[in-house]
Amino acid sequence: MVFVGNRKLDILKTINITNMETIKAKAYGAESAETALKEMNIERRDVTAKDIEIEILYCGVCHSDLHTVKNDWGGTIYPVVPGHEIVGKVTKVGKDVSKLKVGDFAAVGCLVDSCRECESCKKDLEQYCLNGFTGTYNGKDKHLGTQTFGGYSEKVVVDEHFVLKVPSNLNLAATAPLLCAGVTTWSPLRHWKVGKNSKVAVVGLGGLGHMAIKLAKGLGANVTLFSRTKSKEKDALELGVDAVIISTDKDEMNAVKGKFDLIIDTVPYVHDVNPYVSTLNISGTLVLVGYLGGLEPILNTVPMILGRKSVAGSVIGGIAETQEMLDFCGKHNIVAEIELIKMQDINEAYKRMLKSDVRYRFVIDMASIKK
Ligand code: NAP
Ligand code: ZN
Repeated sequence: MVFVGNRKLDILKTINITNMETIKAKAYGAESAETALKEMNIERRDVTAKDIEIEILYCGVCHSDLHTVKNDWGGTIYPVVPGHEIVGKVTKVGKDVSKLKVGDFAAVGCLVDSCRECESCKKDLEQYCLNGFTGTYNGKDKHLGTQTFGGYSEKVVVDEHFVLKVPSNLNLAATAPLLCAGVTTWSPLRHWKVGKNSKVAVVGLGGLGHMAIKLAKGLGANVTLFSRTKSKEKDALELGVDAVIISTDKDEMNAVKGKFDLIIDTVPYVHDVNPYVSTLNISGTLVLVGYLGGLEPILNTVPMILGRKSVAGSVIGGIAETQEMLDFCGKHNIVAEIELIKMQDINEAYKRMLKSDVRYRFVIDMASIKK
């Protein structure tokens, strides 16, 4: 049974057919798009043969958490417990688990399940599972039938296939954002084969943007940041960018026409993509990872056709690719720039995120939820 506060979830009337053992966990979540996040009690499945139980030590705060709480994309099932940048310690394992053992550090990103049988899953592209992947939150837990609950919580139980190993040299709190912001930008960098001779640009210096810069630099690319104001220029240079272009300045935009092989656009809201397409080189690609929905103003195909340019999209990354990214970060000592917050500060953090006042990822110290 799952209770949130004293309320039994209606959804369980039809799905509590398995009589699975469950465990209780303290969490922070929202009961509607209009209400603040608050403490609640949830139940998760107890470990089955292939499951790992993780005590969550740190959880990053992604702009997708905020979009989901506010139901920006529709389809949010309340109560929702966000959080898909999870790092913690293994506290229990099922009898058939071989990947990790009790006491190991472990990480979980945006995916906790997929069909594992379709063409995408077989190619390690679980994020494009043809039967739909199960999100770490607001997905459907195939075992319990309830919605999945994310990392703003004391613990989580996940099938070992979807649990990642954490490089031992990295700061744990600053590793958490790699699980979403890291892999979401790593995946297009790898897909479009970014390397030493690549010219990459990143639109927006937030959680995803700052990871895109670090990872592209790690791969040896020349990297430019497009930001709306000069306020983040100094930080961007410290992060390693080769140039900063103020996207609201027409002269600066004109100066980089035809320059980039790959642009990673992380802007969360509708915006004019056309000025960025003009800055692509022949055969270049602008990949949208932020905004979901119709573009306004509409996309002008003329520069695309005349320059064989592409506008594409990309969602998170598969499990093997996430592990590859974590190992790369371990080798190159790459972690996120973070501001550690208490669980109780989450509503203030969301307000600041809406003002782009994050340098550059909030991470929740999950010890605070126990107080
Ligand atoms: P974030 O930390 O809030 O950063 C977004 C950045 O975009 C801001 O720092 C700002 O940079 C710029 N920006 C914000 N509002 C803007 C506007 N109205 N017009 C132009 N630029 C604006 O967000 P995030 O966590 O990086 O997430 C970015 C987006 O990616 C969100 O929509 C999130 O849901 C999505 N996301 C997608 C995936 C995926 O798999 N595709 C995965 C994770 C997240 P400047 O101040 O430098 O201009
Ligand atoms: Zn995310």
